[in-house]
Amino acid sequence: MKFDSKLIHGGISSDKTTGTVSVPIYQVSTYKQTELGGTPAYEYSRTGNPTRHALEQLIAELENGTRGLAFASGSAAIHAVFNLFSKGDHVVVGNDVYGGTFRLLNTVLNRLGLEFTAVDTRDLKAVKQAIQPNTKALYLETPTNPLLHVSDLSSLADLAHANELLVIVDNTFATPYLQRPLDLGADIVVHSASKYLGGHSDLVAGLAVTKSQDLGDKLAYLQNAIGAILGPQDSWLLSRGIKTLAVRMRAHNENTRAIFEFLQKHKKVAKIYYPGDPSAPEYELAKKQMRDFGGMISFELVAGADVKAFIESLQLITLAESLGSVESLIEVPAIMTHGAIPRAIRLKDGISDELIRLSVGIEAKEDLLQDLKQALKWA
Ligand SMILES: *Cc1c(COP(=O)(O)O)cnc(C)c1O
Repeated sequence: MKFDSKLIHGGISSDKTTGTVSVPIYQVSTYKQTELGGTPAYEYSRTGNPTRHALEQLIAELENGTRGLAFASGSAAIHAVFNLFSKGDHVVVGNDVYGGTFRLLNTVLNRLGLEFTAVDTRDLKAVKQAIQPNTKALYLETPTNPLLHVSDLSSLADLAHANELLVIVDNTFATPYLQRPLDLGADIVVHSASKYLGGHSDLVAGLAVTKSQDLGDKLAYLQNAIGAILGPQDSWLLSRGIKTLAVRMRAHNENTRAIFEFLQKHKKVAKIYYPGDPSAPEYELAKKQMRDFGGMISFELVAGADVKAFIESLQLITLAESLGSVESLIEVPAIMTHGAIPRAIRLKDGISDELIRLSVGIEAKEDLLQDLKQALKWA
C-alpha cells in the first residue's frame, strides 16, 4: 500500500466487533478478565487501550518501524526515550534541538546523571569528536528549528552505529510524509504530534517509534512504568488528524514554495531560510533525503525594518507559538520560542533579533501572499 493510503487504512482502522469504519473511543480504565492469572489483551489503560493501540500501530507503520507508542506530549515521549539511558551515560545532541529538549537535558536529566554534549550535526567531524567512551546515543532534528538546517541522516547513522550508539531523530518538522529516518538508519523516531501530525492546533500529544522489537519492548516498559500516556479521546483525535496528513502536507509544501518565491523578490527581505532554496548549502541533501521541503520558512527583514509593525499588521496570518497546523502561524524566535536562550548564544547560533519564523498553513496562497504583501509595506 502506498503511504497516502496507509494514512487512512493503516494500523487498526476499524472495530472488528461492530464494523465501525473509524476506531471508537474506548473511554475505559480497566477490562473484565475471564480467568484468574490469564494473559488478557488489555488489563489496564495505562498499559494498553484499544484506541491508543490503533494509533500506535498506525504510526509504527507510517514510520516503517516495529513498535509505536503514544504519549501525553512530545516532551513526554522524549523523556521516556531518554530513560533508556542510565546515570553516567552520555548523549551527543544536535545544538539546535527543540528548546524544551535542551531544557529537559540541561536542567532535569543532568541532575539524574545523564550527560550530554551539544554539536552541529551537519558537521560529521564535530559529531565524531564529541563521542566519548560512555556515549550511548546521538539525538538530533532535521530540519531544525528555526533555521531549518538539514543533517545527513544516513551518514550520521553510519558513524553512530560504528561507535555502537543509538540514533534518535525528532521527526516533528518533516513528518513521515516527507522523511522516514528509520529507513535511513535511525533506531528511534520521536514526534511532537501537537504539530503536523495532529495538524489543527487542538491537541498536545507525543509519539515514538522504534525500528527493533527489542527497543520497542524496552520503551513500552518505560511508557507503562513512567505513565505519561495519551488518553483515548486525544488518541482518537490524533488518528483522525493523521488521515489527512498527505493532503495537508502537499498544500503546506505548495504554499511555502510560493511564499519563498515571493519573499525572495521582496526588497525588505534580507535573508531566507528554507530547505527548498536552490542556493541553500543543504539543498541537494534535502532533495535527496526528503520527499519535498515542508511548510516551515524563516526570514530576516533588512536592517532598520520594523519587525513589530510588520507582524502586527498581518490580518490573516496569526501571531502565535507552535507550528504545523492548517492555519498560518508567525512568530519571532528571539522573543517567543527561543527567548530562554541567552542572547549571546542565540546570536552565535544564527538566531538574530530580527529573525521571523513562519509556519505556512493551507489557506489559499493568494490570501497569504496578499497578507504578507500588505504587512511588509508597514515594516
Ligand atoms: C513542540 C516540539 C516538541 C515538544 O512537543 P510538545 O508536544 O509540545 O511537548 C519537541 N520537538 C519539536 C521539534 C517540537 O517542535
